[in-house]
Amino acid sequence: MSKSRGCAVVVGASMGGLLAARVLSEHFERVTLVERDMLPAQGEHRRGVPQSKHAHGLLSSGCMVLERLLPGFVSDMLMRGARPADVLADAHWVVHGLRIASTVSGVRSLLCQRPVLESYVRERVLALPNVSMLEGFAATALSGNYDRVTGVQVESRAGSESMLAAELVVDATGRGSRLPRWLATLGHEPPSDERIEVELGYASALYRRTPSMMGGRDVCVIAAAPPNPRSGVALAVDAEHVMVTLCGALRDHPGATHEAMRAFARSLPAPDLFELLSSAEPVSTPTAIKFPCSKRMRYENARAAPAGVIAFGDALCSFNPVYGQGMAVAALQAELLAKLLSGTPTDLPRRFYAGAARIIDGAWTLSAGADLSFAEVRGTRTAITRVMQRYFARIVRAASTDPQVACRLIRVLQLVDPPSALLRPGMLLRVWWCGAARVPVPLLASRSAESLHR
Ligand SMILES: Cc1cc2nc3c(=O)[nH]c(=O)nc-3n(C[C@H](O)[C@H](O)[C@H](O)COP(=O)(O)OP(=O)(O)OC[C@H]3O[C@@H](n4cnc5c(N)ncnc54)[C@H](O)[C@@H]3O)c2cc1C
Repeated sequence: MSKSRGCAVVVGASMGGLLAARVLSEHFERVTLVERDMLPAQGEHRRGVPQSKHAHGLLSSGCMVLERLLPGFVSDMLMRGARPADVLADAHWVVHGLRIASTVSGVRSLLCQRPVLESYVRERVLALPNVSMLEGFAATALSGNYDRVTGVQVESRAGSESMLAAELVVDATGRGSRLPRWLATLGHEPPSDERIEVELGYASALYRRTPSMMGGRDVCVIAAAPPNPRSGVALAVDAEHVMVTLCGALRDHPGATHEAMRAFARSLPAPDLFELLSSAEPVSTPTAIKFPCSKRMRYENARAAPAGVIAFGDALCSFNPVYGQGMAVAALQAELLAKLLSGTPTDLPRRFYAGAARIIDGAWTLSAGADLSFAEVRGTRTAITRVMQRYFARIVRAASTDPQVACRLIRVLQLVDPPSALLRPGMLLRVWWCGAARVPVPLLASRSAESLHR
C-alpha cells in the first residue's frame, strides 16, 4: 500500500501507543514511537506501567481487535503460555452478591500477565519496517501554532533536547498526559474533564496454580456491591500461576501482605477468593497501587482542536480498572483511527474525538454507572444513571438464573455488544420475567459454612 503521508510520532509505547503505531504504519512513511522508559526484556515489568503487576483482563472485544490488527495474535500468545477462556463457562462471576449462571457463551479471550501481552505486541509492531522506537526519551512540548501541531520536543535522560517533526502526533502517555498543558502553550483552553472519584486501592500477588483451584476454572470475578466496596479477581495467567488482585473503593484498601489479602478476601460478597488464598502457595510478594479517579477528557467538546495531534487511550479516558476496559477501548480506538485514515479526513482530530467519544460512551456507561451506585462516590448522577442502575440490578438477578441473559450481559460487559443490546425487546421480556427473584450466592462445593468462620 502506498503511503501518502510523511512522519508520525506516537508518544508513549504502552498498549495504546503500540496499537496506534501499528495502524499509522499503513498510512505514514515513517512512524516513531517515543518512550520515556528503557524497554525491558520480554515479559518484564517496567516503571512507566506500574499497573502491570496487577491482574490485567483482556476483554473479548480487545482480543478480537488484536487478532485483526496482528493476525496470528491468539495462536502466538497461546504458544507463549497464555490461556484461552470462554469468559462465562471458564469463569465464576459474582455480581451484586449473585452468582451468574454458567454456560458456554462463545465469548472468548486470553488470560496472561500484562508484560507478556505488551512485549508480544511491541515485538510485532517493531517488526514493521517503517516503525522505530526512541526509548529513554520523554516528550516535553509540542511545536507548531494554534492551528497546527508540527512536531514534538523530546529530551533524553542526559538532558539533551531535540525536535521531531511530524504530520501527526499521537499522545498515548496515559492518564498523566500533559497534552492539555502543551496545547495551552499554543493558545488552546484545556478540555473539560469528567471524574468519578472511586479512591481505589489494589493489592495483587501471584500464586501457584493447582488443577482444583477455582473448581477447575480459570477465572473468578467477585464484583463490589453496595454497601460493600470490596471486590477481587483471580486469573490463571499461565499453566502454573494464578494472579489474585483485591480491590477496595472509597479508601477501603487491602493491605499488601498475604495475611492482609486473605483477611480482605474473607469480607468479599462470595467466599471463592478467601478459599483460594487460604490454601494457595504464594510465588510473589504482594504489591499495591492506588487509583484515585476515573478520568474522561472531553476533547470532543473543545471549541477548537489543532490539526496534527490527537490524544489516545488512557490519555483520553482512564477507566476504573476493575472493569478491565482500558486495553480493549484503546484497541477499538486504533480501529477507528485506521478507518478514518483510510479515507481522506479533512478534520482528523475532530472526527477521531467524535468517534472515540462514541466508543468510550458505551464502556463509561457501564463502569461509571456501577461506581455511582455507591452513594459516597463523587461524580455526576443523572436520572438516566439511576434508571439504568435499577434495570442493571434486575438484569443481574435474571442472569443468575437464565443462561441466555447471562450470555447477553457478558457480551455487553466484554464490549462485544453495546449497552443498548440490554434494551432489546427479547431481553426486556426475559429480564422482566426472571429478574424479580433474588437468588442467594451458593457456597462452593468444597466449602462448608463453618469454614467461613474459622
Ligand atoms: C491498576 C490498574 C489495573 C488495570 N487493569 C486493567 C485490566 O484488567 N484490563 C485492561 O484492559 N486495562 C487495565 N488497566 C488499564 C490499562 O493498563 C491501560 O488502559 C492500557 O495500558 C492502555 O493505556 P495507554 O497505553 O494509553 O497508557 P499507559 O499504559 O499508561 O502507558 C503510557 C506510556 O507512556 C509513557 N510515557 C508517559 N509520559 C511520557 C512522556 N512524556 N514521554 C514519553 N513517554 C511517556 C509511559 O512510560 C508508558 O509507557 C489497568 C490500569 C490500572 C492503573
